[in-house]
Amino acid sequence: MKYIGAHVSAAGGVDLTPARAHELGATAFALFTKNQRQWVAKPLEEKTINAFKENCKKYGFSSGQILPHDSYLINLGAPEDDKLEKSRAAFIDEMQRCNQLGLTLLNFHPGSHLKQIDESDCLSRIAESINIAHETVPSVIAVIENTAGQGTNLGWKFEQLAAIIDQVKDKTRVGICIDTCHTFVAGYDLSSKEACEKTFAELDGVVGFSYLKGMHINDSKIELGGKVDRHHSLGEGHIGWACFEYIMQDNRFDGIPLVLETINSDIWAQEIATLKVFANAK
Ligand SMILES: [Zn+2]
Ligand SMILES: [Zn+2]
Repeated sequence: MKYIGAHVSAAGGVDLTPARAHELGATAFALFTKNQRQWVAKPLEEKTINAFKENCKKYGFSSGQILPHDSYLINLGAPEDDKLEKSRAAFIDEMQRCNQLGLTLLNFHPGSHLKQIDESDCLSRIAESINIAHETVPSVIAVIENTAGQGTNLGWKFEQLAAIIDQVKDKTRVGICIDTCHTFVAGYDLSSKEACEKTFAELDGVVGFSYLKGMHINDSKIELGGKVDRHHSLGEGHIGWACFEYIMQDNRFDGIPLVLETINSDIWAQEIATLKVFANAK
């Protein structure tokens, strides 16, 4: 079973997101549980939490179909101690919010070394941040998203994802989310069926499909290996439809949220419908 959806707006309250996803014909969705550009948010109210849970039930979304995304400000590998502390506290808050909402996945970007520490030190800090969050909050799985390799962001190489996972104590509560746009601009080709076979075989060999907890389904405005993160609508960028058809027809991508972050929300329903056709055509 493929769970297909989009990152929907939580404007007006997180409890409104299940209906927004349902209107798109989605069977999965992503959301921010707080403003993604601010450090602090007021705690979730009991009535919002209850309404969210009720609406998930009403529209048929289980926690495995929902992939919340954390704030863009958090850097779990930050070189400076005060920034690292602030990031870890904010990440724990994000994880707690997920836990309160009955959610079991939390998608985040691993972190940046900002040219102040070396790569392996940064990766160790990220893993330690995950360990600390695990000790504080129960149940939620830390889902590391691969990145585009822009600037000093780590997590664009599969080996970097593996290095983080390797240092996480509780392997049952760590996973990865693969963003097709990020993968492609990081230098892994996805522009044909053969290229997808090769790239996903590499992912399986280096990290392992057992860690795959979600996918971001995006085309790319930037060419292969361009190291710049610019999403595009499906079929309109340098990746093309073959990749998305491949993913929809491969059962290694069953049972996890497959989430659009494409640039034109007006055509999300159409993109979801097309992906569903591919999924049912195998
Ligand atoms: Zn992301
Ligand atoms: Zn993404």
